[in-house]
Amino acid sequence: MKSFTHEQKHLIIGFGIVGAVIVAVAVYSLIRMNILSTRINGLSSEITTLNSDLASTTASLKATIEQSHITLSSALSAEQQHVGTIQQQLGGFQNQVGTLSGTLTTLQKLSKTDPELLKKYSKVFFLSDNYVPARLSEIPKANEYNENKQLLIHTDVLPHVLSMINDAASSGVTLYAFSAYRSFAEQRALKGEYTVVYGAGTANSFSADQGYSEHQLGTALDFITPGLGGVLEDTFDGTKAYQWMTQNAYKYGFILSYPKNNGYFVYEPWHWRFVGIKLATFLHTQNKNFYDVDQRTIDTYLVDIFD
Ligand SMILES: [Zn+2]
Repeated sequence: MKSFTHEQKHLIIGFGIVGAVIVAVAVYSLIRMNILSTRINGLSSEITTLNSDLASTTASLKATIEQSHITLSSALSAEQQHVGTIQQQLGGFQNQVGTLSGTLTTLQKLSKTDPELLKKYSKVFFLSDNYVPARLSEIPKANEYNENKQLLIHTDVLPHVLSMINDAASSGVTLYAFSAYRSFAEQRALKGEYTVVYGAGTANSFSADQGYSEHQLGTALDFITPGLGGVLEDTFDGTKAYQWMTQNAYKYGFILSYPKNNGYFVYEPWHWRFVGIKLATFLHTQNKNFYDVDQRTIDTYLVDIFD
């Protein structure tokens, strides 16, 4: 057996120690790596778990939010429908209130409108002796044929008469008011005069009850134009004034009460009655006479007579 020198022994021991240290370090490192690897694996799996938890929590939150959204949306839409229904009901009420107030206005207007103003007067139906119009106004002297007479007319008719006379003048037509309101007493006196002068038969033919009723209303006027010698005669229908009136008087609410060949009274081309623009326009466009129209139809125009 070969023996080692003292130096060799030291060297071998030295190598041995170094080798042992290397092995120990290597072993330690392996163990350490193993431990770390296990921890990494553990952490990885924790991360995976956390990720999956997060994903499911997110999904669940999303589902919850969506569900809430759907619930809120449907609640909102239900509420909107409810509001819509209430609005509709409110609209209905407003309509009813509107209709009621319209009816009320009509009733108030009617209650203030004299129902006699559109009545038909005949040999059997005429105005009471005591009837006097609610309000009467003076026709301006400039518009009267005879300036010594003071003519009165229903106050609400006056502006219509004046605008008709003025518009006629603008068209070169001269219209004068010859007579207007006549009280029962005046009419009786007038008829008395006629009777004395002409005899009862003639007096009845041109100053009879129907005409007098209309003058007693305060809404009827007799018109005249220059060139007729100041007398109301049938020849008035040959004048420019009469032509103009047949074409335009309805626009101011006037109608010819007793046209030619009417079955109610003698022909009076000068005698015009205010019935309101709507009724006068209806009669004009339908080519009808006031006295030929049913009283119930006429009465539907009463509420608008002064519009
Ligand atoms: Zn008359």
